[in-house]
Amino acid sequence: MNGPAPVEILRQHLIDPEICIRCNTCEETCPVDAITHDGVNYVVKADVCNACMACVPPCPTGAIDNWRNVLKAEAYSIEEQFGWDELPTQNPTVGAPGASSGAAASTAAAASSGADASQAAAAASEGDEVPGSGSDMVRGATVPPWSAARPYVHLYTHKTPTTATVVGNYRLTDAATESDIHHIVLDFGTMPFPVLEGQSIGILPPGKSADGRTHHARQYSVASPRDGERPGYNNVSLTVKRVTRDYGGNATDGVCSNYLCDLKKGDVVSVIGPFGSTFLMPNHPNSHLLMICTGTGSAPMRAMTEYRRRRRLKGATGKLMLFFGARTQQELPYFGPLMNLPKDFIDTNLAFSRTPGQPKRYVQDAMRERAPDVAHLLKDGNTHIYVCGLKGMEDGVLQVLGEIAQAHGMAWEALWERLKREGRLHLETY
Ligand code: NAP
Repeated sequence: MNGPAPVEILRQHLIDPEICIRCNTCEETCPVDAITHDGVNYVVKADVCNACMACVPPCPTGAIDNWRNVLKAEAYSIEEQFGWDELPTQNPTVGAPGASSGAAASTAAAASSGADASQAAAAASEGDEVPGSGSDMVRGATVPPWSAARPYVHLYTHKTPTTATVVGNYRLTDAATESDIHHIVLDFGTMPFPVLEGQSIGILPPGKSADGRTHHARQYSVASPRDGERPGYNNVSLTVKRVTRDYGGNATDGVCSNYLCDLKKGDVVSVIGPFGSTFLMPNHPNSHLLMICTGTGSAPMRAMTEYRRRRRLKGATGKLMLFFGARTQQELPYFGPLMNLPKDFIDTNLAFSRTPGQPKRYVQDAMRERAPDVAHLLKDGNTHIYVCGLKGMEDGVLQVLGEIAQAHGMAWEALWERLKREGRLHLETY
C-alpha cells in the first residue's frame, strides 16, 4: 500500500516591505533574476530563488533577510507579495521560521557594497571588465573597521517612526545651475537618535502614491558627525538633490527629494532608522581615510571629514585624501567650506566632468594623476577606503585602484580580498 505523498516544505525567501527602502540593490545583485518589483514592493520569485544569499550582504537595511517555512505548493506568489504592507506571520503548523541567515548575514545585511554584474558589464565609462566583477562576488567589505564605534540601528521603524524639526535648509549649489542640492538640518529635540558617520536615515514623505498607498521611506546618508551638525546638539544634516529627471532623462518630480528641498524652518518630518553597520569610519587616531565620491555621495565623506577635523584637535594623526567628482565647480556641494580646509589636514582632488571648454574628467582620472600617493596609502594597513555616489563609478574606481596597486608592486586581487576582510574597503553606490 502506498503511504501519503511526502509534504515538501520550502524555506521561502521574502523581503520585509516595512523595512525595505526600495533601493533596487537586491534586484541588481541577484544572479538568477529571482527578485522583481512593482511600484510598491520588492518581491522574490519562490520558484527561481536558490537561496544563494548574494543579495543579503548588499542590502542596506536588512529587509532582504526574511524567511518563512511554507508548503512548497502554497508558496507566496509574487502577486500576493506585491499586495503586502507587512510580512505574514509564520504559520505554526508548517514549522518555525527557518533561522535567519544568522549573525554573519545580519551584519552583512547592512553592508554597503553592491555586487552588480550588469553594472560591471556595462562599465560604460571605462570599457574594461573589472576583475572579480561576477555577480557572485561581494565587492566591498561586509564588516566594519576594527576600531569603528558600535552603531545603533533600526531604533525607529515604519510602525514606530520618530519626528524631527527642520532647523536649516540651504541650497548648496550655484543658483544658476540646474543641479539643486540642499543641506538640510534636522533636530531631534529630546528624542534619542544616535548616528555615526557613514550611517543613513529614512525619511517618510507625507501623502500617498497614485494607488492610494502611503509612500515608502527614502534613505539618505547623514552628512554630519556623531556629535551633531552643531557640536553637542541632537541634530543631523542631509545632502539632498532635487530629483527632476528619472534615470531615462524624462521629467519627473522625485517625491521625497522635492518634499525635503521645499521644507521650511520649523516643519516637522517623520524619520526612521538609523541604518547601516559597516560603512563606518575607523576610530584609531593613526588611521587614514581615502575617500572617493561623486555629487551627493559626498554626504558621508563630509561627516567623516568633519569628525576628523573636530577630533584632530584631540590628536588624530592619520591622513585624509579625497577625490570628489561633480559636473562643474558650481554644482559641487560644499565647494566653499571644502576649499577652506587646511591643506595639511586633507588632500583634496576635484574632478569636473562638464566644465565648458575642458575635457571630461572623472574621479578615476584624478586618482591616476595622484597614483604614487594613492599607492602609498594602499600599502598602509591603516588605510580605509570609502566610495560613495553613482553606481557607474564603482567599476571605474575599482579598476584604477587595481591599476595603481599592480603598478606599484602590490598584487591587487590579494590586496582587494584583504581590504574586504579587514573592513577597509566600503562601497555605497546607487
Ligand atoms: P551627478 O551630478 O549625476 O554626477 C556627479 C559626477 O559623477 C558627474 O561629474 C558625473 O559626470 C560623474 N560620473 C558619471 N558617471 C561616472 C562614472 N562612471 N565614473 C565616475 N564619475 C562619473 O551625481 P548626483 O546626481 O549627485 O548623484 C550622486 C549619487 O550618489 C546618486 O546616485 C545618489 O543616489 C548617490 N548617493 C547619495 C547619497 C545621499 O545621501 N544623498 C548617499 C549615497 C549615495 P557626467 O554626468 O558629466 O558624465
